[in-house]
Amino acid sequence: MSRKPIIAGNWKMNKNVQEAMAFVEEVKDQLPSTDKVDAVIGASPLLLNGVKFASADSNLKVAAQNCYFEDAGAFTGETSPKVLADMGMDYVIIGHSERREYFHETDEDINKKAHAIFRNNMTPIICCGESLETYEAGKAVEFVGAQVSAALKDLSAEQVASLVIAYEPIWAIGTGKSATSEDAENMCKAVRDVVVADFGQEVADKVRVQYGGSVNPSNIAEYMACPDVDGALVGGASLEPASFLALLNF
Ligand code: PEP
Repeated sequence: MSRKPIIAGNWKMNKNVQEAMAFVEEVKDQLPSTDKVDAVIGASPLLLNGVKFASADSNLKVAAQNCYFEDAGAFTGETSPKVLADMGMDYVIIGHSERREYFHETDEDINKKAHAIFRNNMTPIICCGESLETYEAGKAVEFVGAQVSAALKDLSAEQVASLVIAYEPIWAIGTGKSATSEDAENMCKAVRDVVVADFGQEVADKVRVQYGGSVNPSNIAEYMACPDVDGALVGGASLEPASFLALLNF
């Protein structure tokens, strides 16, 4: 089953407006064809409008890094998925381990956000991943499986087939300590197996599963060679134009 690779940069809370614009100016005419790979940048909400405008008519797709699960209302400081859709966002990253850990997001919140993103015609990139403690206890498959099942609850088969799941072991994020390609393959396969169990083989054959955790231009090819790894979610190595372009040309 061939799935189109998706390489997404997660800038986290980095870059000011000028730096973001300079990045887009530099990469926008050098991006690979959209037939080959989906190239995505996930920027902070303050940068999204600028990134979207600067990348208009290019192959760059733009992602928010979070949103709320209501479209509007008295939710001071939150980001509306409806407005993100109005702004032309393609994807919204949800459930990143930093959001789960520092902002106490639960599996239930993440599921509500997935529904809100689809309601507004965007595509979620749903992050999952275990801590070092869980990994060392040999419970990663069980833990990540439960996260994935909870995040996908009550979505339709068609929605699940179209979304992206990013498997990111927490111990590999921003640590320079990446999972072996064998570990990444086993875990991405385990994620796909959960989709088989919950939604059937046909849906699981379509859903795209990324690996994330200290991916860089020198190790990306190893991950992309794994049959169940359909792309990467990349933090640090997505911040420089040359490095982002190298990732896309894995
Ligand atoms: C991330 O931000 O999701 C990530 C995987 O970061 P890094 O590539 O820096 O480990």
